[in-house]
Amino acid sequence: MFKELHKSKALMDLAIFTDLDGTLLDHHTYSYEAAKPALTKLRELEVPIIPCTSKTRAETEVFMKELGLRSPFVVENGGAIFIPGDYFSFEFEHNKKTGNYKVIEIGSAYSDLRKIFEEVKKEYKITGFGDMSLEEIVKETGLTSEMADLARRREYDEPFLVDESDADAVINRFKESGFSVYRGGRFWHLCKGNDKGNAVKILKRLFLESNKKTKFAAIGDSSNDLAMLDEVDYPFLVKKPDGSHEKTENKKIKKIDAFGPEGWNMAILDLL
Ligand SMILES: [Mg+2]
Repeated sequence: MFKELHKSKALMDLAIFTDLDGTLLDHHTYSYEAAKPALTKLRELEVPIIPCTSKTRAETEVFMKELGLRSPFVVENGGAIFIPGDYFSFEFEHNKKTGNYKVIEIGSAYSDLRKIFEEVKKEYKITGFGDMSLEEIVKETGLTSEMADLARRREYDEPFLVDESDADAVINRFKESGFSVYRGGRFWHLCKGNDKGNAVKILKRLFLESNKKTKFAAIGDSSNDLAMLDEVDYPFLVKKPDGSHEKTENKKIKKIDAFGPEGWNMAILDLL
């Protein structure tokens, strides 16, 4: 009994960063069912779960609500951090207030992305979310109309399509102008400055200011999670949909022999 109490006290000093797609959420079904035992345990211990995702704020909010989370979260691949206004009891630097959030912006605003996008569109055939109707986004992504509507509320990242034959030239054109392009499945993404690792660094500072004993874990499945994993005490990788683990030089990373939420569950129960 005493041991249990002691253990849970120590675990209050933990915060968990997590990727969503393919990590806490199943790659195919978007279900987190298999992670429920660990999620329940974390809720009992009041351990914050901090999504760090490529999703938009609107998409992430749906998920936060469903899980009953009210922690900070990182959207659009490290584009910005959204922190509920009353989450930390001290003042900290932020770029703006939106609704109930204090927002720390890391990436460039969507309007700036669209500006360069319009330029490059004059030279190459490229189509961004901003050019597509809701019906077209549904068709291209396979999302439901409801989810597609949330996915297109971009703030720090523009997904786009380009013919394979033009891809290299288009990427170079964006890079020459100081922007970044990365591939996420079917879509390419245009952004500037977005950085999951930097987002984690900033949040770590805030959590440590709140409790200097806090330890950090992070769970991801792919290359865009590695910067996040490099920042924490307990990094985990779950298996990618093809059954392999993302390649990494980081020896601290524990590779979990299971996919998505099942691996998530194993990683957390193992950690506790
Ligand atoms: Mg992922």
